[in-house]
Amino acid sequence: MIKKKILIIGAGPAGIGCALRLLEKGFQDFLIIEKNDYAGGLATTFTDENGFLWDIGGHVQFSHYKYFDDAMERSLGKDGWYHHQRESWVWIHDRFVPYPFQNNIHRLDPEIAQECMDTIKSRDLTAIPQNFKEWLTTQFGKKLCEIFMHPYNYKVWAYDSSKLLHNWVSERVAPIDEKVIEENLKLKRDQVSWGPNATFQFPKNGGTGAIWKSLASEIPKENIRYNQKLTSVDLKSKVITLDNGESLEFENLFSTMPLDQLCFLSKDIPDELNKMAKDFKHSSTHVVGIGVKGKLSPELKSKCWMYFPEDNCPFYRTTVFSNYSPNNVPSSEYYSLMTETSSSSDKIVNTEKLVEETIQGLKNTKLIPEDAHIVSQFYYSTEYGYPTPFLKRDEYLKEIIPFLEKHSVFSRGRFGAWKYEISNQDHTFMQGVEWSNFILDGVKEETFSI
Ligand SMILES: Cc1cc2nc3c(=O)[nH]c(=O)nc-3n(C[C@H](O)[C@H](O)[C@H](O)COP(=O)(O)OP(=O)(O)OC[C@H]3O[C@@H](n4cnc5c(N)ncnc54)[C@H](O)[C@@H]3O)c2cc1C
Repeated sequence: MIKKKILIIGAGPAGIGCALRLLEKGFQDFLIIEKNDYAGGLATTFTDENGFLWDIGGHVQFSHYKYFDDAMERSLGKDGWYHHQRESWVWIHDRFVPYPFQNNIHRLDPEIAQECMDTIKSRDLTAIPQNFKEWLTTQFGKKLCEIFMHPYNYKVWAYDSSKLLHNWVSERVAPIDEKVIEENLKLKRDQVSWGPNATFQFPKNGGTGAIWKSLASEIPKENIRYNQKLTSVDLKSKVITLDNGESLEFENLFSTMPLDQLCFLSKDIPDELNKMAKDFKHSSTHVVGIGVKGKLSPELKSKCWMYFPEDNCPFYRTTVFSNYSPNNVPSSEYYSLMTETSSSSDKIVNTEKLVEETIQGLKNTKLIPEDAHIVSQFYYSTEYGYPTPFLKRDEYLKEIIPFLEKHSVFSRGRFGAWKYEISNQDHTFMQGVEWSNFILDGVKEETFSI
C-alpha cells in the first residue's frame, strides 16, 4: 500500500494552497486526490458550446493577504488582470438603488424612504439578537428589513434568517450609520462604495478558473491524481479508500471535501458526531447564464452585479459577466448575464423550469428587452454552494473538528471548515497555506479557528 506523509483531498483553492506551500518548503511527500478531471473546485470556469465563459456564480478577487496577492500575480502575470471599480446595485420597486441599500433610500418613493428612516431611528439597540433575523431587525429597522433585508436574505441563504447565526456577519454586511443615512436622504445623495472590495480584479482571459488551472500546473504530475474520489476513511489505521478500490495510508489528512460528507465516510466516528453531521445545513447554487446578441442597455454599461430581493425573478444576484472581461463572450457583438439562484430543503427550486423562469425574470427586471436575441443558455448547479451558518454550527464544529484532529484528519476550506466568513478564495487558499505552516513548523493557523 502506498503511504504518504500528507494526503490532500480536493484540488480547489484550499488544496492547491496547501500543496504549493509544502512544495515551497521543500516537502514533497504528499498526494492530492481530486474527484473532478480538473483543478479549481468551485472556482472553476466553463466555456459553453457557443463560446461564452461562465464562472460558478459571480467570483471577484479581493484579498486580505499579501501572500495571496503574490500568488495571484504569479498565476496570470501582472498584466493578466482587469481592475474594476465595484458597482453593485439593488433592483427594487422597479428601479435601481445603489448598494449599500440603506445609504441610498432616497431613491425610494418618499413615504417609503421616510418609513425606513423612522424605523431605523426607533430601533431597540439594547435588544440582544438570538439569530440573524433579529440581528437584521436590530441593525436596520423594521421597514428596511421588510422590503429588502428579510426577503433578500431568504433568497440568498435559502433558509429563513431566524435559522441562521449572526456572529459571522462583521465585514460582510455594511454597517449602518444613522446620521449618514439621514443626510443622504435629505440631500438626495448617492453613496456607492463600501468595504474591502471597493475595487476588484478579474482575469483578462479564461475566467476565474484560469487562476487555479495555472497555480495547479505548478504541482508536479506525480503529486496529483484527478478522477479519483475518496470513499472511506479508517481513522484508526489512517487509511483512505478510493472509488477505484485502492487504499492509501497517511500520517496526516488535509480534507477540503464537505465536512458532513467526510463524517459520513469516516469509520469509528461516534454516533453523536454523526448525528450532528446529519444536522449540518447547506444550500445549493444554480447558475443560469444567458448570452445575448446585441448591445447592453446603457443602464448596465458599468454595473458589476445586482441584488434582487423581490419575487419577480428566481435569482438573488445577477452579474454582468461581459463587463468583467470582453473575453468572457465570443465577440463584442454579444453580452452575458450570469444569474445565481439558491435552493435547500426549505426552498425547493424546479430546476426543469429554472432557465425559462430566469429569462422571464431578466425581462421582468428589465435587464434584457422582451425581444432580446438570446443565443446561449447555460445551466450548472452545485449541491454544495453556500456553507449555511446554521444556529448550532459553532457548537457542532467544536465537537467534530477536535475529534478528527485527534486522528490526524484536518478539515479545511469552504465546506471543510463550514465557515462562510472565511470561505472566499483568498481565505480558503490561505487556510491551505497556513495549515502547511502548522504541520511542518507548528505555526498557529490564523485564518481558521473554532
Ligand atoms: C456562488 C459562489 C460565489 C462565490 N463568489 C466568490 C467571490 O466573489 N470571491 C471569492 O473569492 N470567492 C467566491 N466564492 C468562493 C470560492 O469558490 C471558494 O472560496 C473556493 O472555491 C473554495 O475552495 P476550497 O478548496 O475550499 O473548496 P472547493 O472549491 O469546493 O474544492 C473542494 C474540492 O474537493 C473535491 N472533492 C470533494 N469531495 C471529494 C472526494 N470525495 N474525493 C476527492 N475530491 C473531492 C471537489 O471536487 C473540489 O474540487 C464563491 C463560491 C460560490 C459557490
